[in-house]
Amino acid sequence: YGDASQKIDYVFKVVLIGDSAVGKSQILARFARNEFSLDSKATIGVEFQTRTLLIDHKSVKAQIWDTAGQERYRAVTSAYYRGAVGAMLVYDITKRQTFDHIPRWLEELRSHADKNIVIILIGNKTDLEDQRAVPTEDAKEFAQKEGLFFLETSALQATNVENAFMTVLTEIFNIVN
Ligand code: GDP
Ligand code: MG
Repeated sequence: YGDASQKIDYVFKVVLIGDSAVGKSQILARFARNEFSLDSKATIGVEFQTRTLLIDHKSVKAQIWDTAGQERYRAVTSAYYRGAVGAMLVYDITKRQTFDHIPRWLEELRSHADKNIVIILIGNKTDLEDQRAVPTEDAKEFAQKEGLFFLETSALQATNVENAFMTVLTEIFNIVN
């Protein structure tokens, strides 16, 4: 989970967006600290967390920004998106509405962020398969149509969280190299 003394070759800003309670903060906690909490409070104060990792022998500092309860439509400010080279668009596979709102988030992202931003759609909470309300195929089809990467994750079980971040960071890395 990173070595503070190492030299940094790249810093990549990645933003987390999506409706409230879909698991954005827990996905970040899993990635940045390998932690998970079932009674996570709304994020207060902390704007981003970092983790430094190696990609192709270069050290990449991932600076991951998390919304602090600004999930209301259009409440996320342009400062949040500024300089972002990656975005993770998160919905909850057990809450259809959070998936139905994805086009809005995508539109907001595309109007604020750089046009070359790398985007991954994430369906979180796969550990709650018995409560699934969004078929994998629906999301896969949407992602394909919009040119997004797509993965389903569980922050609770640590399923695909590393994979999701590596997908985005590696794609960004390949673009700048
Ligand atoms: P945010 O508002 O998008 O940041 O959502 P949080 O990360 O605060 O998570 C909202 C709630 O969902 C919390 O009770 C979390 O513990 C829970 N949660 C987050 N990820 C998962 C997951 O993968 N599986 C399950 N079962 N619960 C999760
Ligand atoms: Mg949060």
